[in-house]
Amino acid sequence: MGLTRSLTAPSMQGLPSRQGVTLLVLSVAVDVNEIARLGKDFPWVKPSGCPRCGQPLWWHGFVLAYFSCLLEPVWLRRLRCSCCHRVHRLKPAGYWRRFRSTILEITQSISHRSESGRWCRTLPRGRQRQWWRRLQRIAGAVLGLFPGSTSDALEELRSQGFIPVSLSFECDNSGAGPPPYLSVSLP
Ligand SMILES: [Zn+2]
Repeated sequence: MGLTRSLTAPSMQGLPSRQGVTLLVLSVAVDVNEIARLGKDFPWVKPSGCPRCGQPLWWHGFVLAYFSCLLEPVWLRRLRCSCCHRVHRLKPAGYWRRFRSTILEITQSISHRSESGRWCRTLPRGRQRQWWRRLQRIAGAVLGLFPGSTSDALEELRSQGFIPVSLSFECDNSGAGPPPYLSVSLP
């Protein structure tokens, strides 16, 4: 599989950091297996500007991240804005922030459980139970007596902008951080 070098416009998710500075996760269309194979040599493409203020970004080291498809953590690239000093992290698209399983794996697990009453064999049961419990909690709070299946509730929550299996729906699902979001044109 070749490197995916054509990046989509990143979507952003705000992460409150310990310093009170908003960390942004920029989702980019890259292959997590290639990142694992090449390590710090992976050819990340730098976004043309800060998603918040549009000013140039500088490489700002690496951060280790875990993904469910890999045994070992991988190095993700970080960037720092020269103007607003926000730190951004590049992350493969297809993941919700703080989740090591892909969105596809999570939705498939929920859909499988919803239809068959069983957990997916390919994913850890504990993790699937946790997703299921969190989803039911958020669905109950947000959707109330929802007429559809649990899987339908997940899709409904997604369409409303929620991360439907997150622990804290009040802050984790506040959208993508403080608006407005500027779109970032990538080289
Ligand atoms: Zn900035």
